[in-house]
Amino acid sequence: MEVTFLGTAGPRGWPQPFCTCASCLGCTGSAVREPSCVLIDGTLLIDCGPEPAHAAARAARPLTAVRHLLLTGPAEKAPLAWLPAAGLEVVAAPSGPPAGLPAPTAGGPPWRTVAAGEEFVLGDHHVTVLPGGAAGRVAYAVSGPNGARLLFIPSAPLAPEADTTRAWARPDGLPYDAVLLDVVAWPERLAALRRDGAVTEATDVLAVHLSHEAPPGEELQRRLAAWGARAVADGGVVRLGAEPDRQPAQPYRTLVLGGARSGKSAEAERRLAAVPEVTYVATGGTRDGDAEWAQRVTVHRERRPAAWRTAETTDLVDLLATATGPLLVDCLSLWLTAVMDACDAWDDAKWESGGREQVRAHIDALALAWRNCRAQVVAVSNEVGSGVVPATASGRRYRDELGRLNAVIAEQSDEVLLVVAGQVLTLRGLPRKPRHARS
Ligand SMILES: [Zn+2]
Repeated sequence: MEVTFLGTAGPRGWPQPFCTCASCLGCTGSAVREPSCVLIDGTLLIDCGPEPAHAAARAARPLTAVRHLLLTGPAEKAPLAWLPAAGLEVVAAPSGPPAGLPAPTAGGPPWRTVAAGEEFVLGDHHVTVLPGGAAGRVAYAVSGPNGARLLFIPSAPLAPEADTTRAWARPDGLPYDAVLLDVVAWPERLAALRRDGAVTEATDVLAVHLSHEAPPGEELQRRLAAWGARAVADGGVVRLGAEPDRQPAQPYRTLVLGGARSGKSAEAERRLAAVPEVTYVATGGTRDGDAEWAQRVTVHRERRPAAWRTAETTDLVDLLATATGPLLVDCLSLWLTAVMDACDAWDDAKWESGGREQVRAHIDALALAWRNCRAQVVAVSNEVGSGVVPATASGRRYRDELGRLNAVIAEQSDEVLLVVAGQVLTLRGLPRKPRHARS
């Protein structure tokens, strides 16, 4: 199955016309994207931007053999002047054909509406209509003559009562070869598809419906890669059903550093947003009677997906040794505080009489467990060394030991990120992909 991406943006394109945001102004040249539109094996179009024929010509894939246009929704941008002349059939979502489309009796193309649950054959392709989430929209699963399977999900918020993501899994339990979706807006949908076996490591996850809500350029690709997804440029061609990339995913350790309120926790959570069954490891404890701390904990908890499990523990060595699914450890600086508490290391005399060795033994044990961890793990830590020098000896001691801890963990990490003012700098990135499912 050959999939040509004639457009990969949301309905207004990227950049959006006359928008002055940094994302749009930075989106030039080959980064420019038309509204999402894919051509399958030269005969089947899914969704339609304003000029699919021009986009197809630029990709050297003329639309002359296209026989069917599948619409996932209202298709505001469909070229009404062009459709009647194309000699194709329009298969419309329950929202109906594009407004203003001439009736077949007036020279318009033949069209029909379909609803979730229907299946039919169009030429060499088998099409299954699936729920689209929002009212009037549908998703399409398309199987090609070589057995390749593709899922195209429209960009729409899910109706709160709909368990649509389960409906996207194939009845035969087999994964898709490619899934096209708005992963930037809804990474949790990718997590659900992984949970249901519809997406595995062999599935090509391709971002479409991209818009200026996304960061431009390298930051977009970096974020997609962390989710096991990618974006191809408009005009890009992807072939499915060939021998897939069987390179197994490896354990993958990410350390996210940053100052207070830098956005480091949000970045760490975002990295795991497309993974099902994450265990969130809170190392901060409960701090009885501290209302401000309780408020911080509540805010963090409400931001996390409901499906995540929470473990409140400082026994990270055991947790890393036994983990089978992804972990998010927030954070190592609070873990170090607990270790210094346990070793009585804040006391100058105790520090000199064995406290130092005790704390460092804990740090070395953690670094070893981090190195040997078999699961995907993301840990957050504070970067404190470049600020004001603490006034007390114990404060300076904590700062120094945290610097040591961060360095030894970073040394054993596949990826190290520094977050400053919400901006992510990659300090280290090894060219391996994380494992997104349970090991
Ligand atoms: Zn913009």
